[in-house]
Amino acid sequence: MEKTRYLLDEKDMPTQWYNILPDLPEPLPDVLHPGTGQPVTPDDLAPLFPMGLIMQEFSPEHYIDIPEEVQAIYKTWRPTALHRAYRLEKALDTPAKIYYKYEGTSQGGSHKPNTAIAQAYYNKKEGVKRISTETGAGQWGSSLALAGAFFDIEIKVYMVGVSFYQKPYRRIMMETWGATCVPSPSQDTQAGRDMLAKDPDCPGSLGLAISEAVEDAVSRDDTHYSLGSVLNHVLLHQTVIGQEAKKQMEMADVYPDIIIGCIGGGSNFAGLFLPFIKDKIEGRKPDLRIINVEPASCPTLTKGPYAYDFGDVSGLTPLLKMYTLGHDFIPPPVHAGGLRYHGMAPIVSHLYHLGLVEAQATYQLDTFEAGIKFARTEGILSAPETMHAIKVVIDEALKCKETGEAKTILLGHSGHGHVDMAAYEAYLSGKLTNYEYPEEMVKKALENLPKV
Ligand SMILES: *Cc1c(COP(=O)(O)O)cnc(C)c1O
Repeated sequence: MEKTRYLLDEKDMPTQWYNILPDLPEPLPDVLHPGTGQPVTPDDLAPLFPMGLIMQEFSPEHYIDIPEEVQAIYKTWRPTALHRAYRLEKALDTPAKIYYKYEGTSQGGSHKPNTAIAQAYYNKKEGVKRISTETGAGQWGSSLALAGAFFDIEIKVYMVGVSFYQKPYRRIMMETWGATCVPSPSQDTQAGRDMLAKDPDCPGSLGLAISEAVEDAVSRDDTHYSLGSVLNHVLLHQTVIGQEAKKQMEMADVYPDIIIGCIGGGSNFAGLFLPFIKDKIEGRKPDLRIINVEPASCPTLTKGPYAYDFGDVSGLTPLLKMYTLGHDFIPPPVHAGGLRYHGMAPIVSHLYHLGLVEAQATYQLDTFEAGIKFARTEGILSAPETMHAIKVVIDEALKCKETGEAKTILLGHSGHGHVDMAAYEAYLSGKLTNYEYPEEMVKKALENLPKV
């Protein structure tokens, strides 16, 4: 009899993170210094990050030990369950077998604490007293606030203005865990003041909030900066998801034909698929399909070029080779989800460029329709971000129904949507619309790409 949930014991939680860097078929392009255009050195990054994380960013090791203190906190919610979506399969009348790895049971409600805890640990170890960061919909800020509470570190969060006002509950979570949260653009930094002088009603963007948080960190000795996605060390920390899922799929005696997840900066989904893509790179699973799903309103992989760009609006961060909509991309304030970053993780970008992973963009209304179907079958109220992946899971399962193939589909379920009820309400009352990022805007953004 097949199970509904595959549970691991605490002792089966991974004790190492999996590093894809030495297993890549071609090396990752260098990160460049914004001033010199030369590859960055660990010392260049020292004002922003603790050395423990900087070394992980470039590490040639295949596996990196997870510190005991981090493991101890991971165990307050890990290992997470792998579920079989029997009720969704039945509703779709599909022969496909759908599994999902659910990260919504962490205290923050998503995968983000997997890296927040690790980042706070390395900062604490090196004596850092305060960390600045940005947050879009608020998941990252609340996860770092949680980690700040565990490690007694002061957290300052610059939250994208439009979300700050639309999503007060995430801010209250941050404040409950002891962090300070301000709307971006703010009066607390030069980048914020400059933007407010230009446009007092600026809704903000992740790129701008990053500028503010980076400026905050480099202008104070006691403060470091932290990023919740995109960077190699963040994806590394998330590989606990995929390592657990691999063991759980073995318990179920299956291997996925298709792995599907949503991408904002690429961390939750890479955390799931990296331990599996090793099998594809090494030729054991040449037919494995890996589908990254993004919103049509922020189509980074599906429409952006692969180019060097800044991670932020002001051009303070190192240059990353990635798919990008341009660092001055300001998303229209119509989309309910948090998948609105202009760039994409260099690792995910590189794998896409090499043809090892696929990408699809979905429309807002279709994602909500899929998310509601999931809620009415599996019961989980998914984060609007996760719904993007659910939409493509349903598409693939329906294709199986047509062809009669019983494919095994693995969904990366990144988190619950309990703090996103306003978006559900907007959908249920017919107030959400579709929005496609216009082609001209993509072209225009490219004019401002840094010349390398
Ligand atoms: C932040 C977030 C995402 C997107 O970020 P990634 O780095 O791409 O994972 C997706 N889902 C949820 C629930 C999130 O909180």
